[in-house]
Amino acid sequence: MSDRRDFLRKTALFGLSGLAGSLIGKEKLDAVESASDFLVNDGNSFVLPKLPYAYDALEPYIDKQTMEIHHTKHHQAYIDKLNGAPANSINFSVDDITKCESVDATTTALIRNNLGGYFNHSLFWTLLKPNPKGEANNPGVALAEAINRDFKSIDDFKKEFSEKATKIFGSGWCWLILDTTNKLRIVTSPNQDNPYMKVMADRGKVVLALDVWEHAYYLKYQNKRADYISNWWNIVNWEKAAQLFSGK
Ligand code: MN
Repeated sequence: MSDRRDFLRKTALFGLSGLAGSLIGKEKLDAVESASDFLVNDGNSFVLPKLPYAYDALEPYIDKQTMEIHHTKHHQAYIDKLNGAPANSINFSVDDITKCESVDATTTALIRNNLGGYFNHSLFWTLLKPNPKGEANNPGVALAEAINRDFKSIDDFKKEFSEKATKIFGSGWCWLILDTTNKLRIVTSPNQDNPYMKVMADRGKVVLALDVWEHAYYLKYQNKRADYISNWWNIVNWEKAAQLFSGK
């Protein structure tokens, strides 16, 4: 087992240097490292992060039952699969997500599906924020300026994001990323892939994330994914998005 751990560590280091030297550069590498905040283990197993709000706090936009099942069943299931894997899976890091390849096909699938699923949900919860009074909810100045620069206006950006998220075939995610040329772009991924993964054509640092798996909305919205998305804009945590954007 320790041989395998050494191998994983070495391949992780190789992945990091490859990343630093080619695609992403030092600045972006730091951003990837800061994403490690979303993978937490207690030394023995990965742990389910607490939600930063109550299950019913996102009502009426996302209902209590959906949030509770999404967090305690779906998010937990990715963790259970990681924790049920060979003991050294707790050494997995965001770097493994980035490389998305491992010693064998089973481990690679575990990283892509379950480490990805664990990471994506841990990130997603922080990008949601209660808005019980239905107040206007828009990005702060710095991020708004970048959105205006790259999408013409906030409304154009929201329209494009909503359309791309609505059109994802099957299960997946829609992302706002800062790409390697420091341009904001909207990209989508299937299943639990994310824009840190080498398997994605469009990569970059995540600024915003939206889960469009049916389990994220079906109890309240049934087949009306577009309604879920238009309501989701009310509970986007723009402060967190700005933090991810600026890397602070
Ligand atoms: Mn989900």
